[in-house]
Amino acid sequence: MRILIVEDERDLLQSIAVVLRDEGYAVDSAADGELGLYHALNFDYDAIVLDVMLPKLDGWELLNRLREKKSTPVLMLTARDQLRDRVRGLDTGADDYVVKPFDFEELTARLRAIIRRHANKAKSVFEIGALKIDTALRLVSQKDKTIELTPREYRVLEFLAIHRGKVISREQLFEHLSDATEDNGSNLLDVHVFNLRKKLGAELITTRRGHGYCIE
Ligand code: CA
Repeated sequence: MRILIVEDERDLLQSIAVVLRDEGYAVDSAADGELGLYHALNFDYDAIVLDVMLPKLDGWELLNRLREKKSTPVLMLTARDQLRDRVRGLDTGADDYVVKPFDFEELTARLRAIIRRHANKAKSVFEIGALKIDTALRLVSQKDKTIELTPREYRVLEFLAIHRGKVISREQLFEHLSDATEDNGSNLLDVHVFNLRKKLGAELITTRRGHGYCIE
């Protein structure tokens, strides 16, 4: 999963980025609205954390322009005294909001929820045959036995599971699993898939020649 954070308070931006990377997300960031919009339009994010008060282009305007092109889930960061803003945000096409100061557990829980909702998945636990993926705890088990995965392997598995039934190209996988600072991951994708098959069974992830990977 790849997340964009648009926030001009440097310390807050850094803290959110650290927390999300710890949670296994790839993270890009932008410190003003123009750069944020550029990223949001040019990359495919699984969700965007968007501050309201931003230099150059505020959060509302960014959201407006984004919604003309894309339905990427957006979590707004609003101030406590901006109740009207929150209502406005949900009207404008924000998917949810948290009020500053928020705790990071609430932020990550709401992020997971809007990502699931966007993929039309109501539950945080996916079951695929005997395989169970708990996306809240990031735990994978098979026939009730816990399977140890590296953070990268987990990211690949979770992304394919959320988009179960769809063929995901290697380019899509790479774009959703890496942030702008990573450029060597593309050829490692096949290694991660190879390892996942070794750990979880060869039949789980199918390869569609020339198209990509799929969990049926
Ligand atoms: Ca701000």
